[in-house]
Amino acid sequence: MFKRKGIQMLSVQPDAKPKGCAGCNRKIKDRYLLKALDKYWHEDCLKCACCDCRLGEVGSTLYTKANLILCRRDYLRLFGVTGNCAACSKLIPAFEMVMRAKDNVYHLDCFACQLCNQRFCVGDKFFLKNNMILCQTDYEEGLMKEGYVSQVR
Ligand SMILES: [Zn+2]
Ligand SMILES: [Zn+2]
Ligand SMILES: [Zn+2]
Ligand SMILES: [Zn+2]
Repeated sequence: MFKRKGIQMLSVQPDAKPKGCAGCNRKIKDRYLLKALDKYWHEDCLKCACCDCRLGEVGSTLYTKANLILCRRDYLRLFGVTGNCAACSKLIPAFEMVMRAKDNVYHLDCFACQLCNQRFCVGDKFFLKNNMILCQTDYEEGLMKEGYVSQVR
């Protein structure tokens, strides 16, 4: 599991012995340095492994595991949760494949007609009605009951 860590920005005392940067191994001679993971860093050296953003500026937290350091945004993108499945309302982990329909996300297993449980294949039409996924048959049947279809056709 990744750990969430804070980042501190410290000002360097002019008479203090320069600290080595954990990123580039050079001495830090700037006026400010970052302290994170019990190490010291140049402001430019503490970066997200994914998007290269400077972590001292981004909300001052980082996520780390072994030598990998990520910003919050990438961490959430890679390891966060996608949201709740609109069908079973359980959480969907970000790694899982999902189906999307409008603003809703679904587990692959949950993405089926909610009336007849028919699964959809690629290219199949599906419909969203009152936030329920419906196959074409059930959708049209529903419309028929409401008397719309005769007007549409
Ligand atoms: Zn450095
Ligand atoms: Zn990033
Ligand atoms: Zn689900
Ligand atoms: Zn159906």
